[in-house]
Amino acid sequence: MGLKRICGWIIRKKSIGRIIIIEVSSDSVRPSVLVLKEEREPELFKLGMEIDVGTALCFEGEEAPEQRSARGVEYIARKIEVYAKPIEPLPVDTMGKVPALLDTRIKYRWLLVRNPVEKAIFIIRNSLLNAAREYFSKNGFIEVQTPKIVAAGAEGGATLFKIQYFENDAYLSQSPQLFKQMLMAGFTRVYEITPYFRAEKYNTTRHLNESWGIDVEQGFINSVEDVLQTLENLITYIIEYVLKNNKEELEILGVTIKKPSTPFKRLKFQEAVDILRSEGLEVSETEDLSDYAEKKLGEIMAEKGYELYFIVGFPWASTGFYYMRDEDGVYTRKFDLDYSGLEIASGGQREHRYEKLLNALKEKGLNPENFSFYLEAFKYGMPPHGGFGLGVERLLMKMLNLENVREAILFVRDRTRLVP
Ligand code: ATP
Ligand code: MG
Repeated sequence: MGLKRICGWIIRKKSIGRIIIIEVSSDSVRPSVLVLKEEREPELFKLGMEIDVGTALCFEGEEAPEQRSARGVEYIARKIEVYAKPIEPLPVDTMGKVPALLDTRIKYRWLLVRNPVEKAIFIIRNSLLNAAREYFSKNGFIEVQTPKIVAAGAEGGATLFKIQYFENDAYLSQSPQLFKQMLMAGFTRVYEITPYFRAEKYNTTRHLNESWGIDVEQGFINSVEDVLQTLENLITYIIEYVLKNNKEELEILGVTIKKPSTPFKRLKFQEAVDILRSEGLEVSETEDLSDYAEKKLGEIMAEKGYELYFIVGFPWASTGFYYMRDEDGVYTRKFDLDYSGLEIASGGQREHRYEKLLNALKEKGLNPENFSFYLEAFKYGMPPHGGFGLGVERLLMKMLNLENVREAILFVRDRTRLVP
């Protein structure tokens, strides 16, 4: 057994007679446990007496032949280097024994990532994004970046943060929608991992004002079915990746994720309305489902054994201008993907025919002049295409059974939080 060097922070210290047990939180989810015996390593034992929870250190040691701790791997230390001691007692419990209120967790997230539970969430978030990138690169998608400072939004002005851009007004991007579609003029498959900035004022457990999305657009599709398949394959790939690579993290969180089976259930919007009405809910045929209806549908679908399901064929009256309409003009090729009663993605087939797109803009009461940069991309051979935006925090929240979307992002931007 070789010597290992591990760096991190003390999250727990216990003295039992002439033994000191120190737990060091490092980059893996379980702490490293240092056992210092006065008899065996008197110098290090003395040092151990002087350092406390919060200290940043590195140690060199080897795995103890006998492993007694359930919390992490035990080491016998050969050397300890202290880098920084706390100048005040810690404001939160980094050991993870005393659960903190959500507000405190958000305020001290940067410190609490020392504790195994909090660390586990963000290690899995990293896996989720790794898995997505791996999936895309295996399937011929290229990663692109589009501007986050924009002149117009994808859906109109209501949810945009306005900024001053030299002598002009500009906005923070709420979605890469228009840009990823424009790229369909020259690439056949793109994706972007991007922030969404949305000036939505409400305070819910599923909305952030700065959230992250996995955005996809693919060209030369036969129908919206191609896009549905990309999304269900991506989700399945991510969940299988996490199940394979994050066993310890899931164990610490006490979470079991059900492996999904493809194809996911495809429920027509109108069918969803009928089901909900038969349960006594008042549901509009022309508007997006309410939060309550979405949840209720989740319960009904769960009883039928569906955790992940698509709602397909949203009515034109409820969608953005860029979705392709069915021949009847009433329904569109827009879909949502719901995970246990929460929308985690929206997407669909887009309108790629110039004239129809122009009419759609007008019909939605938007001024085509504001979209001329976008419309131009449809003049020179725009193939049929479609894509989706998948919320990173919402997917993570549902996979890990978190109650609030704020638990799934390191630094929260919401109605009342702008620092840290
Ligand atoms: P909702 O109706 O739930 O507010 P949306 O339909 O406005 O969501 P989309 O524009 O479809 O959202 O964005 C694509 C995905 O991005 C959503 O399905 C969701 O997973 C995620 N998302 C969008 N807005 C937010 C937000 N404010 N906070 C967290 N995630 C978001
Ligand atoms: Mg949506």
